[in-house]
Amino acid sequence: MNSKKPGFNTVCTHIGEIEDKQFKGAISPIYLSTSYAFEEVDTKRYPRYFNTPNQEALCKKIAALEKGESSLIFGSGMAAISTTLFAFLQKGDHIVLQRTLYGGTANLINEEFEKYGIEFSYVDSQTIEGFEEKLQPNTKVIYIETPSNPLLTITDIKAISGLAKKNGIVSMIDNTFASPVNQNPIDLGIDIVLHSATKYLGGHSDILAGAVVSTHEKIDQIFQVAKNFGGSLSDFTVWMLERSIKTLGLRVKRQNKNALKLAKWLAKQDDVAAVYYPGLKSHPDHEIAKKQMNGFGGMLSFELQEGIDASKFQKELKLIKSSMSLAGVESTILSPTLTSHALLTEQERKNQGINDGLLRFSVGIEEKEDLIEDISQAIQKVKTLALQY
Ligand SMILES: *Cc1c(COP(=O)(O)O)cnc(C)c1O
Repeated sequence: MNSKKPGFNTVCTHIGEIEDKQFKGAISPIYLSTSYAFEEVDTKRYPRYFNTPNQEALCKKIAALEKGESSLIFGSGMAAISTTLFAFLQKGDHIVLQRTLYGGTANLINEEFEKYGIEFSYVDSQTIEGFEEKLQPNTKVIYIETPSNPLLTITDIKAISGLAKKNGIVSMIDNTFASPVNQNPIDLGIDIVLHSATKYLGGHSDILAGAVVSTHEKIDQIFQVAKNFGGSLSDFTVWMLERSIKTLGLRVKRQNKNALKLAKWLAKQDDVAAVYYPGLKSHPDHEIAKKQMNGFGGMLSFELQEGIDASKFQKELKLIKSSMSLAGVESTILSPTLTSHALLTEQERKNQGINDGLLRFSVGIEEKEDLIEDISQAIQKVKTLALQY
């Protein structure tokens, strides 16, 4: 390898790999042992201590992808998020969070924090003033998620990390939607980066995992809590995730390209009322997105014109699957009102700008012509059916 830092796809393919000294195989061997010889108390290996050979190897790769010093991987995105939050918050502390959060994260805050005596405030406006306004003397963490789900709103990462630094507060970001291909928040001053590896890092809709990246010092603070909470990832899944990440750059760049093409195409259709994609010039935060993202991601949302029923449209799609999760190589679509945001009240959805006809589209790696054809034929079918009644 050259003396300069390896480029993104080289990190994806090689960093952290375990050399197979015994048989000279081309890929990392998998170590499923839960029991290792005792050498020293400090270095005793055990899966729940996050230090099996495969865990350590994969953590090196994920840390390198996010330009951090160190990382930990977990059994789910929520395990990574909950463990990290509890590592930096205790009774009497306060956290400021963006309102538009992944549903599971919002549930964690709303259902668990009060019983541990942790105070929280949500910011509606997503402007820097909005966050500043909510700060209290006991605020310990600022938490953001950008692009957000499902309307792909953008928060200014550098402004937030600056605000946090100025006030001696730890800044955290859920970087799942962007993936490390499109956004590296540590370069923008963020302290801690979280991922649901179930999404783009896994990329094939067959792995549940999570990750956190930060400095050695902060990762050690998280580890001290993590070993007690016990949310580590099985080594078999660790090995699958290592394999998946080899193609992360290729997959996500292709998804960026497809999503931009589709967003532009959708925006031109008379049957489409609105398109939400940070890569479109019409997106209100396009300039911030351009400043902080290397690509605009594979997620977009859109609304069909009134009179074209969104759930009938979904049923008429032949190639694009209706599916709860996202970020796989296959294109999937869902209605936030019926699924991810079903537990919110109608008013809460309205406040977040989520209309009943909204569809969230996770763009895959298929040929864009085939995706366009599928959407066109489904719209035509629904319109024809509507005329028959
Ligand atoms: C899916 C998701 C999570 C939760 O991850 P799990 O792996 O399902 O626990 C957190 N944040 C975002 C943005 C997600 O999309």
